[in-house]
Amino acid sequence: MLLKDKVAVITGGAGPNGLGFATAKMMAEHGARVVIVDLENARPAEAAARLGEGHVGLVANVTDKAQCLQAVADAVRQLGRVDVLVNNAGITQPRKTLDISEADYEAVLDVSLRGTLLMSQAVIPAMQQGGGGSIVCISSVSAQRGGGILGGPHYSAAKAGVLGLARAMAREFGGANIRINCVTPGLIATDINKGLIPDDKKAGILEQIPLNRIGGPDDVAGPVVFLASDLSKYLTGVTLDINGGMLIH
Ligand code: NAD
Repeated sequence: MLLKDKVAVITGGAGPNGLGFATAKMMAEHGARVVIVDLENARPAEAAARLGEGHVGLVANVTDKAQCLQAVADAVRQLGRVDVLVNNAGITQPRKTLDISEADYEAVLDVSLRGTLLMSQAVIPAMQQGGGGSIVCISSVSAQRGGGILGGPHYSAAKAGVLGLARAMAREFGGANIRINCVTPGLIATDINKGLIPDDKKAGILEQIPLNRIGGPDDVAGPVVFLASDLSKYLTGVTLDINGGMLIH
């Protein structure tokens, strides 16, 4: 029970096949009360109900400041505090540099980067009041190697922005006992890439992964639980690679 009695808010956690829901499930198994925050069409209340009793699902768009503040206020009203935030909501688009429209740029940057800032701004006062907390931001190997497998350069930029934002916030809030860390997943089989990797490309991709398999959502959930828990209590500002060895640096 690594997270007994902790309250954990997970953005983009409603998709049953996603990293966020796998993390929510593992956190609940470790004793956390989980708040799943997601878009209305992702049905966060139903996702929270699938975790069992005592968990909460809230509708919010992480690109909207008022909705982020409202979601955190509702979480505190219902569960009393916030100890953990996982900034997981994100979208990607396969685009080449010259094809990225302004709308594409805004869509991708807004969810990952603006969303991470707005949700962090929303929870930090509650964490300060509660004596500390842990924020885990989901970046991507795409930020480190200049492209993952599918996302365009604007996705790499958004996820690299998340790394810088998280490190700077880690420096600022260490004194308040709020730790802020990132994970950089490699290729993980979820709805974000379902059906998008042609069969004839798979062998070539696996050749670049020393552990010789595409990751699953649980492969990410474990390290996120570690970063959320007191096992990692002297870690802040770190980036934890979860890529099967795809990028060793
Ligand atoms: P996913 O599509 O299953 O999950 C994304 C979730 O974010 C969905 O539930 C979606 O409804 C939610 N979301 C989208 N826009 C939102 C908004 N504006 N406000 C609130 N919620 C919103 O995909 P996933 O693979 O589980 O992705 C989770 C995170 O992991 C993303 O940030 C993604 O960029 C990152 N990531 C994924 C991979 C991978 O290979 N799957 C690799 C590296 C990083």
